[in-house]
Amino acid sequence: MQSPWKVFMVAPLFFLPPLQSLASPLYEDQSRLSHSNGHTCVGCVLVVSVIEQLAQVHNSTVQGAMERLCSYLPEKLFLKTTCYLIIDKFGSDIIKLLSADMNADVVCHTLEFCKQNIGQPLCHLYPLPKKYSGSGSDICSLPFLAKICQKIKLAIERSVPFKDVDSDKYSIFPTLRGYHWRGRDCNDSDESVYPGRRPNNWDVHQDSNCNGIWGVDPKDGVPYEKKFCEGSQPRGIILLGDSAGAHFHISPEWITASQMSLNSFISLPTALTDELDWPQLSGATGFLDSTVGIKEKSIYLRLWKRNHCNHRDYQNIARNGASSQNLKTFIESLSRHTMLDHPAIVIYAMIGNDVCNGKRDTVPAMTTPEKFYFNVMQTLKYLNSHLPKGSHVIFYGLPDGTFLWDNLHNRYHPLGQLNKDVTYAQLYSFLNCLQVSPCHGWMSSNKTLRTLTSERAEQLSNTLKKIAAKEKFTNFNLFYMEFAFHEIIQEWQKRGGQPWQLIEPVDGFHPNEVALLMLADRLWEKVQLQWPQVLGKENPFNPQIKEVFGDQGGH
Ligand code: CA
Repeated sequence: MQSPWKVFMVAPLFFLPPLQSLASPLYEDQSRLSHSNGHTCVGCVLVVSVIEQLAQVHNSTVQGAMERLCSYLPEKLFLKTTCYLIIDKFGSDIIKLLSADMNADVVCHTLEFCKQNIGQPLCHLYPLPKKYSGSGSDICSLPFLAKICQKIKLAIERSVPFKDVDSDKYSIFPTLRGYHWRGRDCNDSDESVYPGRRPNNWDVHQDSNCNGIWGVDPKDGVPYEKKFCEGSQPRGIILLGDSAGAHFHISPEWITASQMSLNSFISLPTALTDELDWPQLSGATGFLDSTVGIKEKSIYLRLWKRNHCNHRDYQNIARNGASSQNLKTFIESLSRHTMLDHPAIVIYAMIGNDVCNGKRDTVPAMTTPEKFYFNVMQTLKYLNSHLPKGSHVIFYGLPDGTFLWDNLHNRYHPLGQLNKDVTYAQLYSFLNCLQVSPCHGWMSSNKTLRTLTSERAEQLSNTLKKIAAKEKFTNFNLFYMEFAFHEIIQEWQKRGGQPWQLIEPVDGFHPNEVALLMLADRLWEKVQLQWPQVLGKENPFNPQIKEVFGDQGGH
């Protein structure tokens, strides 16, 4: 658990903690010492590459480039301070090495951020460096950083808001598992007030369910919540997911020297305190307007549009690195009361980590269909005792990830665009070498391995399909839906796009915002067609709700 935070603060740009947890869940795999070295190494290579490229782009000295990088960083989270501390500690070495025409791989090996373990291959991102011959440090041990490291760590471990005054798991703060993750609390000092509950006394005196509807119509004395919502069958959306569901995203601007400016890092502090996830823009629970200019909306926004009584009733219970196996360690952060709350639509979307891991010998580390069956049944039993009657659970199948290699391997990674020297094939091989790949099975030049990974994914999807067809539960209906990424690709191509434009450019693995919203749209359409009861009816009072309550307190 320590290692990711070490890396995290060693340099603000490091994207490794989530990749690390994605690849090898923190709470599952204790044999990761070499992995944490791997993350430190990737982080170092990344930052040194950016420094080197900044010097090249601005025709400046290495010192100038380092200072430029620090000057771009925001003060928040001590990012700027930390950056200057790093220059102070490692700057002179970095200057010496880069000035001697060594590349980022060599610099990081020399500074011992990258280590070649005995009997292990030499890992490098750039074409093999020449022969070469410091030490890392734990920035989280600095007094002024220890506290923030600890805060972030705790919020992630518990997957519940750090700043939550009462204990109802809802918060008035956005990040650190606050309302970016589940509907904003409207009374943070009263734990009986939270989104998704059945209204208390029809919300005559206060908005007990935070949907922005409360009080009494002076014309006839009828409470608004009763008038507008009774009989509308309100429901919430809950995602049980992984980094894709949480919308893991590293902005290419943070590592692209040629485009870097003061504005590049504005969103970095928020992203870091959200584990580099962007649930507020995700396919399942996103509530902000999309940043990519497509018409598709999240499942939550569509549920809200259908029935304004559903306002704020969303929970993104997703974690980087989540799998059928480790879901049990954080499923208790789900908030739903069988009697007090409205029913929910739960999407179970563990779409990768049961077949994806960073191990060199990746296949034995994949979940077997038998184990998967057991894990999923445990989750369903838990849900049956926590969801209100009338809920729905939708399984999302696993994708066939072979499109990653097929569409990306010979394209340039953002780090390689300036000098045409880093392709995704190289990035994949570097991450595999360090055993920190988010998905060795699919992010590999080995075709047999990619096929094997797809076969296992298909077996696991079939397990879900079987469970959905066979098992019955008292409090929810169960459905299975294929994760049809090929359909999204086809649709995108029809609009004139290229498949690679649907993948996160920095990690070369996750579906990006466009893909997530298109997937959400596809899911909605299919559910509406096959199981319309899941989504409920359009609330005829929506226009009146808007007229009386405006934006319902917003999100
Ligand atoms: Ca209300």
